[in-house]
Amino acid sequence: MRLPLAPRPYAGEALSSWVARLAAHNFVDAETFWAWLGEGPVDDLNPSTEVVHRLSEVSGISHADIKTLARPLHRLRRDHILNALPNTGLRGAACAACLVENEDAEEDHWLTGFAASIWTVTCPRHARHLLDLRGFDWQFDGAKLRLGQGQRLGGGGRLRAATPPSKLLTICGAAFRRVAIGRSPGSAWRIGNAGDFLKSIDALAAPVCWRSGTGFASFARHFDEAGSRGRESFYISEPFSEGVLAALAGEHVRTRASVMAAIGHLLLKPDSLTALAREQPLPFDLRANAFSNLVEFLNPAQRARLTQGSSGLPDCVREPLRAAISEAHPIEFESQLFRAHERTISPQNLAERRNSEGVSSISLQ
Ligand SMILES: [Zn+2]
Repeated sequence: MRLPLAPRPYAGEALSSWVARLAAHNFVDAETFWAWLGEGPVDDLNPSTEVVHRLSEVSGISHADIKTLARPLHRLRRDHILNALPNTGLRGAACAACLVENEDAEEDHWLTGFAASIWTVTCPRHARHLLDLRGFDWQFDGAKLRLGQGQRLGGGGRLRAATPPSKLLTICGAAFRRVAIGRSPGSAWRIGNAGDFLKSIDALAAPVCWRSGTGFASFARHFDEAGSRGRESFYISEPFSEGVLAALAGEHVRTRASVMAAIGHLLLKPDSLTALAREQPLPFDLRANAFSNLVEFLNPAQRARLTQGSSGLPDCVREPLRAAISEAHPIEFESQLFRAHERTISPQNLAERRNSEGVSSISLQ
């Protein structure tokens, strides 16, 4: 059976985005359409052969093209991919400027396959931060599919223009898009191949989210380009490394952006970081070894865990990391930390701080 209306996928579109359009133009919502297509919950990043066959049959799009839509990030493991929002099938984040362009071109709103990644936080075409899609839904106005909030249709100039990201975040985004398809991150980075780059991101994602003591923000928090106002702080209170990607998959795009920038700060070659610092202020003073910025943030137990966790990393990351740990002064650090507690944190102002900052804690097992 061929559906009466079958829009063709756009180049780079995500399968879930195209299926939402296919459904809408045939006047059903995406959830109903997926239920009609396949049995049980459908994984739009890895659809069964049966689902691919049915999609091809009803749309006239080839099996191969549908599989390409489903696997845009073929080098990534499942835990680098964002969960779809319940009931809507929406994944990831969107660029407001891209959506306005869709409208100008009389296209539906649509999302790229790359938007499904935890580490997609900026638009390479418009150099903008992305909008988080929580609170958005697909809405069909009878002619075009739009991403909207509540009853109000989005777009038409009503989408808030996002701010430009820092150069640090921009080059992190570019490197990530290359490694996601198996290419080298580029000459600015300590690591020359995609596999080791991804392995290093995995190893550093938790440590940049650790906090060394109550009331202190994580290392990554200092890279939040929108400032801290009006948003909960993400940190990992227990230094488990496993599960951090799953936790990040449920976080706001701004949190993911700050974690990515923090990791980028560590993985850029020292020369690249120095060149960057000439163009824009960085959250930390430049050190000969950027890992010192992270290590000085961590208490001795966390430093020991970081040393253990670095054993599988490539030399170009493990060596500067271990050098930074061995050069740090744990006893002095602890006494400074203690003095800082005495000076700034009493039970009373800690409670005030919690209320004013809306601090949240995620414990990973
Ligand atoms: Zn864009």
